[in-house]
Amino acid sequence: MAMLNSNGFVLTTVDELLSWGRRNALWPLTIGLACCAIEMMHAAASRFDLDRLGVIFRASPRQADLLIVAGTVVNKVAPMLKLMWEQMPDPKWCITMGGCASAGGPFPTYSTLQGMDRIIPVDVYIPGCPPHPQGLLYGILQLQKKIKEKGVKKYDKAFEDFRKDIERQGLIPREINV
Ligand code: SF4
Repeated sequence: MAMLNSNGFVLTTVDELLSWGRRNALWPLTIGLACCAIEMMHAAASRFDLDRLGVIFRASPRQADLLIVAGTVVNKVAPMLKLMWEQMPDPKWCITMGGCASAGGPFPTYSTLQGMDRIIPVDVYIPGCPPHPQGLLYGILQLQKKIKEKGVKKYDKAFEDFRKDIERQGLIPREINV
């Protein structure tokens, strides 16, 4: 983004504008799995106040674009988490908060998923047991940086696949552009 002169004109690109909107309005799904979720709640409360970064927790996966996996993921809950991830609209991102969500943590057992990236793609891993709220804040800032670097062009292919998909299913006539 470049300031042209002192008369208040700003020059930018559509790509940068969309990317700016996306990274400054991350809406995480309201879900916590274990002890790390307490630290996530702490980050959202008044002391750290995630709202000021545009991070506002939503109660429905249909309105969320960020999944913060905070806590131990047991094999019984993993399919439900995957379903919620699939219900979130694109583009979407995932942060694993703490050792458990990132790699099984202190539970290398048959009943615990050894890392969320075994079932969905993860963008940022936050170490710790549990990480401090500052750790989550730092992770969100890293995600914002990543979104800025990638821009929005990489989603063109996803939109194209989606268009082909609904055409194939006969949901819209071919002549209408989506
Ligand atoms: S990483 Fe530690 S604090 Fe977080 S859910 Fe696992 S055991 Fe609890």
